[in-house]
Amino acid sequence: MSIETLVQQANLSSTAFNKENFDEVVMSTYGRFPIALEKGLGCRLWDTEGKEYLDFVAGIATCTLGHAHPKIIEAVTQQIQKIQHVSNLYYIPEQGELARWIVDNSCADKVFFCNSGAEANEAAIKLARKYAHTVLDIDNPIILTANASFHGRTLATITATGQPKYQKNFNPLVPGFNYVPYNDIDAVEAAIGELDEGNYAVGAIMLEPLQGEGGIRPGDVKYFQKLRSICDETGILLIFDEVQVGMGRSGKLWGYENLGIEPDVFTSAKGLGGGVPIGAMMTKKFCNVLQAGEHASTFGGNPFACAVATTVCHTLEKENILQNVCNRGEQLREGLRNIASKYPQHIAEVRGWGLINGMELQADIELNAIDVVKAAMKEGLLLVPAGTKVVRFVPPLIVTEAEVNTALQIVDKVMGQMKG
Ligand SMILES: *Cc1c(COP(=O)(O)O)cnc(C)c1O
Repeated sequence: MSIETLVQQANLSSTAFNKENFDEVVMSTYGRFPIALEKGLGCRLWDTEGKEYLDFVAGIATCTLGHAHPKIIEAVTQQIQKIQHVSNLYYIPEQGELARWIVDNSCADKVFFCNSGAEANEAAIKLARKYAHTVLDIDNPIILTANASFHGRTLATITATGQPKYQKNFNPLVPGFNYVPYNDIDAVEAAIGELDEGNYAVGAIMLEPLQGEGGIRPGDVKYFQKLRSICDETGILLIFDEVQVGMGRSGKLWGYENLGIEPDVFTSAKGLGGGVPIGAMMTKKFCNVLQAGEHASTFGGNPFACAVATTVCHTLEKENILQNVCNRGEQLREGLRNIASKYPQHIAEVRGWGLINGMELQADIELNAIDVVKAAMKEGLLLVPAGTKVVRFVPPLIVTEAEVNTALQIVDKVMGQMKG
């Protein structure tokens, strides 16, 4: 079957959709927008009513190559006909190929595969705990994380997440986490010092190179460089959660490249599979902390997910997509800053790296990010909030100059409609 036929087929199906039927049987754990998306091509999506949208959400920074990308269709089709799942009881060549690419294209020496961002962070947390016990000889290891961070929705990762709203009513939380303000080196030093007595001590520091859900806050270069030297001196493990910012989204392949340092451990998920669920934890040097039998995942790194993720990686590289991320990111930020200067009463700041950007609304007005997102959706542009006041722009990394212009026109129009 030709790629053209496959692309067409992927975009032809039509689903009868009824919201009430859906809500009757699916748990209401999400505040859903009242549309159902059924087809996509590139950066465009269509809902079940036939309305077209420009996609600046990309499944929340996940659909790296957009929708119905010919390379993904080809990889999915070929792999599913060969083999889909076998278990890590056996060697999985596709896993080896993906790990080889990641190792060749990062500071990592080895990779552990799982299925999501939270799981990748869980793996990192387990590695950090065992490292603290067996190498640093700490009885009660503490992992420092940042206020306003986001690390996932499992019990350990909501505990790691420095935002009470994700933890409320789920206590008792997992012990062994303390929080510090982001980009504040004195706070880290104080937190390490405070614990230095007794048998509690900091074993690891886990941070996002750029805080995503917390409001698109880029890490400060000086802060992270100082953090690196503290970790080098003390043996404290430096863990980076690259689930949202990694895999090219920042304009560099990994977020840490923007900070001029390398982490000891880092995690990836969202963009890695281009929409196929896969997560990964990478480590430099600390490859033998977790031994056979100490961590596992049934689906982790299965042939299907790995073959697709490898295709995403190769396509990023061969089609020089990082250059597009840098160019389109600059175009987007410049355009948003122009809009911000037109509506200074509404917009406080525009910031980000590559194609992960935030437009922060003024704190002292009633207007929230969700209001802008809803208005943009009406105009055919999909956006997503990052916290209450920040509108997030995370389009597929293949977004074109014309598409960025269209998005900017819609944002300009929508901001023009906003009151107070
Ligand atoms: C989305 C996200 C996670 C959680 O990933 P899941 O795949 O939803 O478990 C963790 N960390 C960061 C930084 C994220 O953006």
